[in-house]
Order: sequence, then structure tokens, then C-alpha cells
Amino acid sequence: MSLVSGLELWQWRLAAGKAALEAGIPLEEVDWLLQEVAGLDPLTIRLESFKERSACSSASLSQIELQLPLQELSQLWERRLQERLPVQYLTGVTHWRHFALTVAPAVLIPRPETECLIDLALEAVNNSPTPQLDFGHWADLGTGSGAIALGLAEALTNASIYAVDCSQSALAIAQQNTQRLSYSQRIQFYQGSWWEPLEDLKGTFSGMVANPPYIPSNLLPQLQPEVVNHEPHLALDGGNDGLDCIRKLITTSADYLQPGGIWLIEMMAGQAATVVELLHQQGSYSQIKIFPDLAGIDRFALAYRV
Ligand code: GLN
Repeated sequence: MSLVSGLELWQWRLAAGKAALEAGIPLEEVDWLLQEVAGLDPLTIRLESFKERSACSSASLSQIELQLPLQELSQLWERRLQERLPVQYLTGVTHWRHFALTVAPAVLIPRPETECLIDLALEAVNNSPTPQLDFGHWADLGTGSGAIALGLAEALTNASIYAVDCSQSALAIAQQNTQRLSYSQRIQFYQGSWWEPLEDLKGTFSGMVANPPYIPSNLLPQLQPEVVNHEPHLALDGGNDGLDCIRKLITTSADYLQPGGIWLIEMMAGQAATVVELLHQQGSYSQIKIFPDLAGIDRFALAYRV
């Protein structure tokens, strides 16, 4: 813990903002960092009302407590600028739905658009003629930080969630998030490839939700340096046409979902038509629907097991 005056922090923010602007990095990221390390709320930062807080010892209560000395904060910000390390890996936190999730380079940083998957799952349950889909088993395949599993656990209060990932280090982070957010009773974790570790539960799942890797391999180098140089390729690379994992989820899920069970995934812009066709061809799905994300891009595919 390190104490600074409001003025010192204000000056730091000004300099960091200037450097961000020059490096083409969004200005609000300086404030995200300050929210985490100084415990200041966004409005206090935006209005700069922290500037008046004193550093003199007689007014120590009004000093600002930083989690690390200002000099180390500068070094962190330098890494954001030079190495293009995502700010969420700098702070180790990302805010997703109601959760503050721990993240590290072993897991993909959960994106805002992925938040929609949880609402779509709920809607799919409510619009289905199959009773009690909100009960029973739900799978989050390729759980990463555990975001989707946690979102499902919160939204479907009667469901048991099975979260799978092939990466042991991702599972460690997902489990840490689950414990900290007190969902350990609701989510079970398994290491393995997609449905493989859930073999004994074939035919029983009310729903499956996944944000699988879907970027075509040849496009990876064109992604922002923050993504391609720091986020796990295991969570991004979807093979030649980006659809390897989605194809696998289409063929294997038929054996695991109960009749009427929900199949819901995230995908990339431009993949919707092929995904619909693959679902039709498989022959085990009905009521196939595509949904846009908040930017209006076709991003989610929903189907029901017949
Ligand atoms: N949405 C992520 C990105 O744009 C990709 C996530 C994924 O491949 N599932 O980088």
C-alpha cells in the first residue's frame, strides 16, 4: 500500500492520458487502471474531485491509497504502451455482467458481446415449449475464466453447471473466480476436450453454451497486437475457416442434449450462414436462429435438439 496526494495522482493521470493519446490507446483505459489500483469510482475520476485530497500526514485519511507506488504504476502503464499488454491483464481484473473476474494471459478476456449469451440462454428457456429447461444440467464448454458458467449459474438458479476446459491453467482461474464469487456449490469443473469429460451424462443436458475459438488461423496475425501477442491462441484459433470447433460442437452436442435441449454459441461476423447450414445438415436440430450483438453483427447461433 502506498499513499499519494490527489494532486500527485492527478498529475500522473494527465501524463498517462497524454502518452495514451500519442500511442493510440483509448483514454478511458487510464481510468480503468486507476479504478482498480486507487479504488476510486469512475465518477470521482472523471470529475477529478480526487485532486483536492491532501498528502500531509495530519490529513492522512484523505490521502489516496494506491495498491502500489506511483513509480510502479508508471512502469505498468509503460507496459500497456510499449508491449501492448491489455489493461485487463495489467490489473488482473475484468468486469463482465455483475462480476469482477480475475483474468490472466492463460484465459481470453471476456468480451462485452459475450454477455448477451446469458440473456439469450434465458430467453431460449422461456420461449421453449419444453418444461423445466432451467433445471438440470447445463454445460459451458471452453470455459476459460469461467465467465459463461458464472453467468449461467446466476441466471438459472436451479441449474447445475458443468464447466469444461482443456487448459489446466484456465481452469485454475475459473475455479478461483467461482470460489471468490461463492458459486462453488453450483459449478463443477472438468479438464478435457469439449464434451469428453461429461461422457456419463449423455442425453441429459438442458443446455450447452460456448464461446469457442472461431478466428480463421490465417487471420490471427491481423488481430490487434493486444489480442494476437497476449491472449491465448488456444481460445482464438478456430482452424482453417475458423469453424473447426463449432463443427465439433454441432456434431457432438446431439448426443449430450436431452430432447428440446438448447444449443447456443458465439461466432464471428460472416459465419452465420455456414453455421445455420451445418446445423441443418446435422439433422438433430430445429428452430435454428441467428442473433446479432450490440453492434448489429450476426454473432450468436441458437438451436434446439429435436
Ligand atoms: N471475440 C474474440 C475476439 O474478437 C474472439 C473470441 C473467440 O475466438 N471465441 O478477439
